[in-house]
Amino acid sequence: MKLYNTMSRQKEEFIPLEKNKVKMYVCGPTVYNFIHIGNARPMIVFDTVRRYMEYKGYEVNFVSNFTDVDDKIIRKSIEEQIPSEEVAKRFIEECKEDMSGMNIKPATAHPLATQEIDGMIEMISSLIEKGYAYAASDGTVYYRTRKFQDYGKLSHKNIDDLQAGHRTIKVAGELKEDALDFVLWKPKKDGEPYWNSPWCDGRPGWHIECSVMSKKYLGDKIDIHAGGEDLIFPHHENEIAQSEAANGVEFSKYWMHNAFLNVDNKKMSKSVGNFFTVREIAQKYDLQALRFFMLSAHYRSPLNFSAELMEAAKSGLERIVTAAGHIRHLIKAAPMSEKTEQENGMLDAANAYTLKFEAAMDDDFNTADAISAVFELVKYINTNVSSSNSKQCLEALYGQMDTLCGILGIILEEKEEALEEEIEGLIEERQKARQSKDFARADEIRAILLEKGIEIKDTREGAQWKRV
Ligand code: AMP
Ligand code: ZN
Repeated sequence: MKLYNTMSRQKEEFIPLEKNKVKMYVCGPTVYNFIHIGNARPMIVFDTVRRYMEYKGYEVNFVSNFTDVDDKIIRKSIEEQIPSEEVAKRFIEECKEDMSGMNIKPATAHPLATQEIDGMIEMISSLIEKGYAYAASDGTVYYRTRKFQDYGKLSHKNIDDLQAGHRTIKVAGELKEDALDFVLWKPKKDGEPYWNSPWCDGRPGWHIECSVMSKKYLGDKIDIHAGGEDLIFPHHENEIAQSEAANGVEFSKYWMHNAFLNVDNKKMSKSVGNFFTVREIAQKYDLQALRFFMLSAHYRSPLNFSAELMEAAKSGLERIVTAAGHIRHLIKAAPMSEKTEQENGMLDAANAYTLKFEAAMDDDFNTADAISAVFELVKYINTNVSSSNSKQCLEALYGQMDTLCGILGIILEEKEEALEEEIEGLIEERQKARQSKDFARADEIRAILLEKGIEIKDTREGAQWKRV
């Protein structure tokens, strides 16, 4: 499996630090509003990377944070006159709802910056001890950027060019030693959330948060660090400077960055009026279609969102889901007979599409080509299966489709069917609870079902349900 490493600017063979394991950190959103469709791109892309690695047999420890203390959150809390913790809490929940709609697996850990302040104070103290950071007279702690020899290695920037760019930026009154130095800890302002620290009551800078959360949940050295390409500089460059100076080892072996999503060929912006939240898209489309759309391009290519392209993604997805429904239908009525020679030949031929899918994904996660392989498989199945095929053969073909779509995070069963399965499952569980005289659990399940709009009636023939 090859992936493009921003650090080397090349596709490299993926060799994990530890056999069969992947330690992966993806910078998560700042939670001050509903996430927009641009934020959804890294979520979908790196969830797909994770799913493919799991398919390949890796155990993936996938960590993605929420930045829950930040200027934008504070601004929102002032606007809405509610505490900033409440703003963050609300939009974390909303974000999780959108993620679930896009079928993004919950991370192994979703750390919150505000819960990791002790670790941040510890890392900042260690950077000060090692001479990589200093506290100014107002209590602000800065990172001494020039002291880190490798500064610029990820973004391929030369520190002297950066210095030139910063020439005029050192603002009067700022207590930095050098214009390139960046903030690790800043003093509180009135009404802002703050924590005690050896330097002043205040809060962490954004970059230190990820260095600390990555270290705590994954260790000093990880396999993959990822995010949108806007994070390469300065965020990831600064994370490297902090982590490598503090830990004394290379921070991440591979760095992956997705390109940006534009809308109607323009940068998304509220003032231009081409800004969409995931929630707005969900009013018009199933978010599975948004996911399918995002994967229709390679993650390192810019992607344009428009109504027409979204419609195209929707109908492409429908073609796959309809074909899957057709096979499920055939399976129900299919004879239980053994597979025939001819069917074995058909399965072999179909397997070529899985190999094609894998080749595309092994080549730096080329989901666009992987989707083409799925379409080819669907076409093959549509032209070759019929009601005379054995159950075994049809199930094998269905399983193949389901596996490939599962890697892309695409659910083949229509929502209605999935819901009915869930209901049947709950009814069965309730039946068992009643048999073992656990009436409390039985009542609980009845209430759960009612919340889902399902009413249960116990009849002589067993429990029956209807929508209410
Ligand atoms: P933020 O909340 O701004 O820190 O963004 C969270 C994630 O979304 C980061 O990985 C960003 O790089 C990514 N991101 C933000 N806008 C876009 C966009 N238009 N296209 C793709 N990724 C984006
Ligand atoms: Zn980060």
